[in-house]
Amino acid sequence: MVCHDPLMTSRRVGAEDLPGTLSRGPRRGASASVVLRAVLDHGPIARSAIARRTGLSAAAVTGHTVELIRLGLLRELPEEPGPKGPGRPHVPVDLDTGRHVVCGVHLAVHHATVALLDLRGNVLVQHEEPHAGLGAEELLARTTEILDDLLLEHAPDRTPLGLGVATGGWVDRASGTVVEHAMLGWRDVPVRALLTSGTGFAVEIDGHARALVRAERLLGRRRSRESVVQLFTGNVVDAAFATGDTVHHGPRSAAGAVAHLPVDGSTEPCRCGRAGCLEAAVSEQTLARRGAEMGLLADESFPQLLALAANGDPIARKLFFDRARLVGQAAALLIDVLNPEILVLVDRSVAQLPDCLPIIREEVRTRSLACGDVEETVVGTSFPGTELATAGGVVMLDALFEDPLGPLLARVS
Ligand SMILES: [Zn+2]
Repeated sequence: MVCHDPLMTSRRVGAEDLPGTLSRGPRRGASASVVLRAVLDHGPIARSAIARRTGLSAAAVTGHTVELIRLGLLRELPEEPGPKGPGRPHVPVDLDTGRHVVCGVHLAVHHATVALLDLRGNVLVQHEEPHAGLGAEELLARTTEILDDLLLEHAPDRTPLGLGVATGGWVDRASGTVVEHAMLGWRDVPVRALLTSGTGFAVEIDGHARALVRAERLLGRRRSRESVVQLFTGNVVDAAFATGDTVHHGPRSAAGAVAHLPVDGSTEPCRCGRAGCLEAAVSEQTLARRGAEMGLLADESFPQLLALAANGDPIARKLFFDRARLVGQAAALLIDVLNPEILVLVDRSVAQLPDCLPIIREEVRTRSLACGDVEETVVGTSFPGTELATAGGVVMLDALFEDPLGPLLARVS
């Protein structure tokens, strides 16, 4: 078991009883959400500044902060003097990142990532577990055990607020089901139901590209709140799109299936029976297999191939640069169809090989008709190194920020 523990905070607050009898109308929940998001964006922040930024009345902000403090989502900081010296002091509020913990699971083709996050989306701990040979139920049972261990070891005094799950393939968020994940060999797996009964937590599940769209909008670049496309190129290749307040799902949450987009210059056979599909051409599995066939690797290992390229091996680097051009083709097409404010790439080579992103941008510059400033538009993820942990956790975190007075906190009270 390999644990990365970069941001473990020493501050722990004992779990306390949460109030269970609040008036929870939809409008009240919506304005509490506005207050909580303002603190996420600008905290520590005085109540008067929240009122200015949100347009809510001072009385409404005071009411919501009192409630959010009682729920353990906000905390008051020590008083600061007012701007003009003596007079009414400012008592700033900030997110209470020490009391609760949000659990996140990402299910990839070869391993599961199990993580704990605080209310700001900081990854407190993440654990990668290989899962070759496990069926769906065994894998979900194993992730439950790992989660229990992480909670016991790293957050014994915090209250878990629920579990977010992200994975590739076709995920129906409404029913909590993985409809199809070809590389895992899953069909109609009721992940939410299985994990709810296994953990006892509230569980939310979404496709990982959509989850990372939520993460970018909630915790990453503000520009993504206008409109954003996320292109995920790992073993699975998929995309997601959001505009305004809406992450697009489409009927049965099937949006974003770009795996079989044809790309120029690839003859790689695809599992769909055709050749030259985007996923077959650029997936990590394909690249690792090529690296092994070319004698660069003893095993078909993408991380080893990436390490070779990062250390300057010219053949490995060329494999990644050729792949970057294909990723750029898909990015250009998505930009022309959707014209987003930004397109975010989630790709391990973009994070670790500095030359890949310029090649992708150059391909977009050459092919796209809609893209203006390609440097501004085509960017890497805001969560390099923790993108999978973040994808899982944010599925639950986003639901919490959406409705902080809703059923999540009612469950733990
Ligand atoms: Zn195909």
